[in-house]
Amino acid sequence: MEKVTEYFGSMVFDDRIMKATLSEKVYKSLKRTIDRGTPLDISVANAVAAAMKDWAIDLGATHYTHWFQPMTGVTAEKHDSFISPAPDGRVIMEFSGKELVKGEPDASSFPSGGLRATFEARGYTAWDPTSYAFVKDGTLYIPTAFCSYTGEALDKKVPLLRSMEAINKQALRILKLFGNTKVKSVKTSVGPEQEYFLVDRDMWKQRKDLIMTGRTLFGAMPPKGQEMDDHYFGSIKPRVAEYMADLDRELWKLGILAKTKHNEVAPAQHELAPIYDTTNIAADHNQLTMEVMQKVALRHNLVCLLHEKPFAGVNGSGKHNNWSISTDQGENLLSPGETPAENAQFLLFLAAVIKAVDDYQDLLRLSVATAGNDHRLGANEAPPAVISIFLGDELTAVLDAIEKDKPYGGTAKEKMKLGVDVLPQFSKDSTDRNRTSPFAFTGNKFEFRMLGSSNSISCANIHLNAAVAEVLRQFADKLEKSKDFNKALHDLIRKTIKEHKRIIFNGNGYDDAWIAEAEKRGLMNLKTTADAMPHICDKKNVDMLTSHGIFTEAEIFSRRDIMLENYIKTVNIEAVTMIDMARKEIIPAVAKFAADTANAVAVKKSVSKAACKYETKLVADLSELIDDMDSAAAALEKAVAKFRTIDVIVKASEFIRDTVLPAMDRLRSAADKAETITAETYWPFPAYDKLLFGV
Ligand code: ADP
Ligand code: MG
Repeated sequence: MEKVTEYFGSMVFDDRIMKATLSEKVYKSLKRTIDRGTPLDISVANAVAAAMKDWAIDLGATHYTHWFQPMTGVTAEKHDSFISPAPDGRVIMEFSGKELVKGEPDASSFPSGGLRATFEARGYTAWDPTSYAFVKDGTLYIPTAFCSYTGEALDKKVPLLRSMEAINKQALRILKLFGNTKVKSVKTSVGPEQEYFLVDRDMWKQRKDLIMTGRTLFGAMPPKGQEMDDHYFGSIKPRVAEYMADLDRELWKLGILAKTKHNEVAPAQHELAPIYDTTNIAADHNQLTMEVMQKVALRHNLVCLLHEKPFAGVNGSGKHNNWSISTDQGENLLSPGETPAENAQFLLFLAAVIKAVDDYQDLLRLSVATAGNDHRLGANEAPPAVISIFLGDELTAVLDAIEKDKPYGGTAKEKMKLGVDVLPQFSKDSTDRNRTSPFAFTGNKFEFRMLGSSNSISCANIHLNAAVAEVLRQFADKLEKSKDFNKALHDLIRKTIKEHKRIIFNGNGYDDAWIAEAEKRGLMNLKTTADAMPHICDKKNVDMLTSHGIFTEAEIFSRRDIMLENYIKTVNIEAVTMIDMARKEIIPAVAKFAADTANAVAVKKSVSKAACKYETKLVADLSELIDDMDSAAAALEKAVAKFRTIDVIVKASEFIRDTVLPAMDRLRSAADKAETITAETYWPFPAYDKLLFGV
């Protein structure tokens, strides 16, 4: 067996390969571009391209692709081969600096939300040299950003990079005020924990809902669900263990730091967490991880479900976005320091995050809004749709002491004086184990837990970075003008705590009482995508996002439309699939069972005087449920037909929320009831018990 240390990153054109294959001059120049964003000279690009091509060909590559992340949520790629005709009728393998740096995919069918008229369909992709190129399936992948010819962002990477730049700029201003002039750049890092389900592929093939929508649209709960909590961190079954080992190996070859794997709460649910990395690289790696997860599953005759809610009544899948800010000197700005000055700086960044989350609750909520994730958020599972911050009791008490200018109840019993005193030691709070908080401080990072398992992490981080950058800007504006820095700092932190402490909540987020309390506190409760998404166009959000150059106004409106369109298209496909399954599979199966039972009654009665009470009642119950299903399917058909006539997108999304989804629930509820009284052999596709416990 090959050693992990030997094959880790073997498919990646990383720093080690760059050093080995590029001249010193070219390497240094490329490094400057990677570290500081200086433009890449075409002669350097040519040299890099040539080295990359030779390296990729050695690994069996014949093609290259500009890999990008359009607004569809999945990644996109168009493969070009390296071949170029030679005069003797043969071919040579070519790849130029121009081809490396810029691509022109036919972009007309990627969603642009009206940004790009079809006559101007072209967009271009530009290499993001901070994210390494890699070889996968015989192709050299070049991570790129995707723009229109007029410079508008058509993807998720461009605004993500812009948001990282915004936070860099504002954090540097703050650090300078603390006398920290050595720092050259500040970056955000993310470690996304990825949840997923595995189901048997032969069973998957029998379910149109899984094939078409990635989730089950029908299914009664099995006798055993997740009540026993025996799956969480339980021992991993051999078939799953083999899958996980294979997956790790593939990810490691691609230089992805897959670190932790375990079973999750629900049966058939698992989790994979990498070691954290710079946000844009973490985003690229998470996209790649999701892709590889699905591909490797097929080799094991499994299907990897990344949907947020594959099974009703069983925990859904999310993605915990562990987020921190750190300097190029290796200092984590969210880590409580050991000296008074470090503590004051930490508290300022902490206050900035608290204010950012409170001021931009709506942006954070909508950054994770999709039809799939709506089934988790606010639907009686982690976390609720209301945003709040968990700080733990100790840190909350520290903030309370600062706010009220009273002694902190640690050993010192002294007033907390910022910039003078050292913070009392507070550890990663153990009360955080319930995991119900949407946004939790976990010692030296925040864990944003609302992301859906299939979401790109880009959107959440764009808005989180933007919101924090904005508050840091406000803080820097104020502090730069102050005459007495320590006093201004103290006042600013106190004022921020006072004004924004409503967002802090350390209790159980599942509790209904919390939702009532949150409403009293004036926190937003945006239950669905239809409720949340329009807020991106609120003036305060447009002003903030445009002022930091993260989006233009046109980009913001186009993104609202694209996200709402994703929402309504997703639900529409689900509705149509449900009708199809009900009419062609479920109703005929239940009718057949009812007819067979009725025939049995007739036969029985012809030979004996049996009353056949049980069978007669069963036939009556089945017939009633068939009628229920038929009328519910008809109502859903009508709703879908009406939906197609609505062309204002916001109205259409509201119609989906208010009419189509409830009609789907009605049909499902009738069918699930029928399932519980229909003989297993008649049911047209594998039921929950087989799917959940069949691997
Ligand atoms: P949990 O208790 O949630 O399992 P872990 O400590 O295992 O927490 O970390 C979960 C994720 O957080 C991992 O991906 C890890 O790399 C990441 N992480 C750890 N420290 C940081 C940090 N400073 N910034 C961002 N992510 C981090
Ligand atoms: Mg976690």
